[in-house]
Amino acid sequence: MKTGIATVSISGNLDQKIEAIAKAGFDGLEIFEQDFIVDAGSPRDVAARIRDAGLEIQLFQPFRDFEGLPEPLRAKAFDRVERKFDLMQELGCDLVLICSSVHPQALGGVDRAAADFQELGERAAKRGLRVGYEALAWGRHVNDHRDAWEIVRRADHPSVGLILDSFHTLARKIDPDTIRRIPGDKIFFVQLADAPAIDMDLLYWSRHFRNMPGEGDLAVTDFMRAVMATGYAGPVSLEIFNDQFRGGSPKTIAKDGLRSILYLMDEVRRMEPEITLDLPHMPPRIGVEGVSFIEFAAQGDEADHLEALLTSLGFRLEGRHIAKNLMLWRQGMIRILVNRETVGHAAEVFRASGVAICDLGVAVADAEATRQRGEKLGATPFHQTPGPGELDIPAIRGVGGGVLHFVDASSGLADVWNVEFSPKKEVQDQETIGLSHIDHIAETMSYDEMLSWSLFYTSLFQMNKAPMVDVVDPDGLVRSQALEAIDGKLRITLNGAETYRTLAGDFLSKSSGAAIQHIALATDDIFHTASALAAQGFRSLPISANYYDDLAARFDFAPGLLERMRSANILYDRDDEGELFQIYSEPFAGGMFFEILERRSGYRGYGAPNAPFRIAAQKRFLSRQNSAAAA
Ligand code: MG
Ligand code: MG
Repeated sequence: MKTGIATVSISGNLDQKIEAIAKAGFDGLEIFEQDFIVDAGSPRDVAARIRDAGLEIQLFQPFRDFEGLPEPLRAKAFDRVERKFDLMQELGCDLVLICSSVHPQALGGVDRAAADFQELGERAAKRGLRVGYEALAWGRHVNDHRDAWEIVRRADHPSVGLILDSFHTLARKIDPDTIRRIPGDKIFFVQLADAPAIDMDLLYWSRHFRNMPGEGDLAVTDFMRAVMATGYAGPVSLEIFNDQFRGGSPKTIAKDGLRSILYLMDEVRRMEPEITLDLPHMPPRIGVEGVSFIEFAAQGDEADHLEALLTSLGFRLEGRHIAKNLMLWRQGMIRILVNRETVGHAAEVFRASGVAICDLGVAVADAEATRQRGEKLGATPFHQTPGPGELDIPAIRGVGGGVLHFVDASSGLADVWNVEFSPKKEVQDQETIGLSHIDHIAETMSYDEMLSWSLFYTSLFQMNKAPMVDVVDPDGLVRSQALEAIDGKLRITLNGAETYRTLAGDFLSKSSGAAIQHIALATDDIFHTASALAAQGFRSLPISANYYDDLAARFDFAPGLLERMRSANILYDRDDEGELFQIYSEPFAGGMFFEILERRSGYRGYGAPNAPFRIAAQKRFLSRQNSAAAA
């Protein structure tokens, strides 16, 4: 299976595009004419640069408004194609994409178009070239791959074939299974793109909002299953028009692109077992069993402060690592590590960002399979040689360079707490606070990195995307995308900040890149937890009285409930399923915080309606803290 990507999909000049595409591991590229025209090199020079990078030129595109024109426009269109044929021969590319005409004078008529393609096929064949016809979703007369196929079928020329583009088929809600009736050898090329479900003009949607397979809401897997069932053996290529990608890092976008193709084709292979695909073996998407641990990098006073906060939250110091300056704090199923090492990954994170979460431990059925899948999908390997008596726990780096470790019971890794940590002797009995497990982890990133992160998690783990929601910060919008494993065993919210003036953006500016900003800890009884926390000195984020007056107007509460919430700074939300109660900690370490929550009767969300009030309260707190520090 050959992979490709259209040069238009990524940012930069042609050389930057070529380099990023080659480095990501694609076999070739579609040269988008605009990218060629803006380059100063001759066609031969451009072709040499592409080949020197180890890439093939799989397609030249696009050629517009060819078929169905009246004379003399028709003759002119043929002249234009001949000039592009000259160029293709110099580039050494044998296939051109002709997209269905939007010309106001195009006449329509299947046989007229077929006759044009028949003649074009003759001309192309003389030069050893081929032409592929693509139905644009907004084509004047042809906007459906079934009609394009009928034209190609009637043209009946070996040098004329069909080009399929998942966006054009799926955006018009055409059943992709109709592709199964097309002979595979008449499909000359396949372009893939996904897109978020937005109701808008097709052309605008296509030109600005396409994204990688798996990043949007279109049934790209069903489309590709149908394509592969035809026996299609040509390249699988990406053609993505996306404003964010055009402004993003070429390297990241290219890497995401290859990850999206490998993920998609691996799914296709599993769903269509008769199809043989030349694709590296990888374990299937990994089921998640929970968060095994969260590790903070911290040193000095800041580490002391963090441990005091953990103590006030009811965590107990359970053990100390046998060789490292690494403490294990536990409550219920929640394990938090505080790493004070001065060398290694945690120390690097601390130097770059101060107190921060440097490592996330995910409990899975098979840790080694998780590492393998991650690496096959292009994740950066991470390995630190274990010291004497330590376990070798499989790990990879995430999108932002943070580390994920994978822990399983089957290979004994879940026993790491007994193997690598010696129990602390003077464990004091504390009142039970009732925090049982990690409900969710919230990662903050710049808005244009969100798709990379969601693709990373959803391609590796059996996680699904919840609908994106807007979180209203008084100083700007933050987009929030929740990813959820089955049964909520792992929930990650991705929060994309567009401006540094938001709380999330401010946090981002202080950390070196994307990072976990808050951890939500679950309790079964928020009121018990609130009073137990207060009794041992935990300081919750003060919430304005106005918030509770508004709650009283919005909801009916049992007598006394609102007062209990008000006195404990508990925020409240309700959905069709159930209720949510939330308490926030005061912010610490540059804007991180803990959330404590109780979900009642299956509440599914994350309290987004409360976010403006929570954020305003956090900003009030931080500005008081800043003015106190300045005084
Ligand atoms: Mg296309
Ligand atoms: Mg939250």
